[in-house]
Amino acid sequence: MVDIQASRLAGIKTRIMAAARGIGRDPAGVHLIAVSKTFDAPDIVPVLDEGQRLFGENRVQEAKGKWPALRERYPDVELHLIGPLQSNKAREAVALFDAIHTIDRPKIARAIAEEMARAGKKLKLFVEVNSGEESQKAGVMPKEAAAFVAMCRDELKLEIAGLMCIPPVDEEPAVHFAFLAKLAREAGVKELSMGMSADFETAVELGATYVRVGSAIFGVRG
Ligand SMILES: *Cc1c(COP(=O)(O)O)cnc(C)c1O
Repeated sequence: MVDIQASRLAGIKTRIMAAARGIGRDPAGVHLIAVSKTFDAPDIVPVLDEGQRLFGENRVQEAKGKWPALRERYPDVELHLIGPLQSNKAREAVALFDAIHTIDRPKIARAIAEEMARAGKKLKLFVEVNSGEESQKAGVMPKEAAAFVAMCRDELKLEIAGLMCIPPVDEEPAVHFAFLAKLAREAGVKELSMGMSADFETAVELGATYVRVGSAIFGVRG
């Protein structure tokens, strides 16, 4: 039996591979995060059974409600927080997740540094950049990205692996992906978390090392 989620997953992987090879990149350098927010075990298990182990959630509470049980069955799952984080959830986030993509202010960076030290656990961390400088959106301003990464490293001893962005909905994503790649070079970090269901191939062509794909695998969110 082939589940719809499993066949969609296979299709996404094929397209990532083709996009990478098309520009001479090793497809192994692109990690697919299956974004399972709003979906529960019956939709997630087929994707796990297909071998996918890297998942993204955007709320600490929601992830806490469904992933501990799934992890008992699939202990090698790697869980990434891709949604906004409040500092009072830092402890839970460090306990539950393996990576956080949304470090965007000193208070959060400090809280995560403290909780990682307390737990003796090291998460992979990304700084979210508000690449379109949108007033309602999270993320550090582009011109502050390099200094923020340096502050995390030098003052908080917090290693930042890369940058993440969510381009404005009404703008050409390629422009933002290229911009994020440039900011990452300037900041001296190598991972790039960019690209979603509608634009992950473009992101791969512009250097994404993590693409975050939800609806193209799980279907339309309710
Ligand atoms: C929901 C979400 C995604 C996945 O979006 P799709 O368009 O469903 O692929 C990616 N990144 C973030 C930060 C999200 O919140």
